[in-house]
Amino acid sequence: MKKKSILIVPFLLLIFCLGEINAQPEIIAHRGYWKTEGSAQNSIAALLKADSIEVYGSECDLWLSSDGVPVVNHDATAIANGKKITVEESPLAILKKVTLANGESLPTFEEYLDAFEKCKNIKLIIEFKTHKTKERENELAEKVINSVHKRNLADRVEYISFGMNFVNQVIRLDPSAKVYYLNGDLTPEELHAIGAAGIDYHYNVIYKHPEWVKSAHDLGMKVNVWTVNKREDIEKMIDLKVDYITTDEPLLVREIISEKK
Ligand code: MG
Repeated sequence: MKKKSILIVPFLLLIFCLGEINAQPEIIAHRGYWKTEGSAQNSIAALLKADSIEVYGSECDLWLSSDGVPVVNHDATAIANGKKITVEESPLAILKKVTLANGESLPTFEEYLDAFEKCKNIKLIIEFKTHKTKERENELAEKVINSVHKRNLADRVEYISFGMNFVNQVIRLDPSAKVYYLNGDLTPEELHAIGAAGIDYHYNVIYKHPEWVKSAHDLGMKVNVWTVNKREDIEKMIDLKVDYITTDEPLLVREIISEKK
């Protein structure tokens, strides 16, 4: 028995070390996989196309319409009937007149979830955009988290935000959900103290603080970086051992990861 355990220990150590060496980041398609025919940023097509290339996740951006409906769009403004509108100050009837670059109308979050339910491979990474008041942010977080739970999708959804109010709301409303902070100004230790799952920072922040990758990992947290599109930066982020790369170029990131294996 003793001899056996003497052999098992180095064997387990070897497996552990190989796992560490081969750990490669997962890919998140920024605003879906949109740099492909028939797609557009934050469109339902971009979500389905991200699923078809089997990346880890597809990111989208959420706003609350003036009449209280969660909708998917990146910018704070959009064009409806040739006029510039502010998304959070417009009712759904106006927002539905916004046409995306691929001809889709601006999707509601419920429409997005209808499509996401059909996806087989990806997680949905939801970014809460910062709104004009905390009350509106709280309403959006509550509505979105309720919808996700009603559809039994909680284990397939993660949350991100530049707004600390949203990070706190997610932790309050769904303590088991993963939420990452985007703004780059807090250390992994500070975010660990409030219960965030990790940091999701611009890659320049990680260039400046490469030591944050290890501090996050030591605390059991993950590191995501955005929006990494150039070969040089992708290679450096892989070498720095981040866990997730958010990108507009998911196939390029995949190619570079397989070159480095
Ligand atoms: Mg976003």
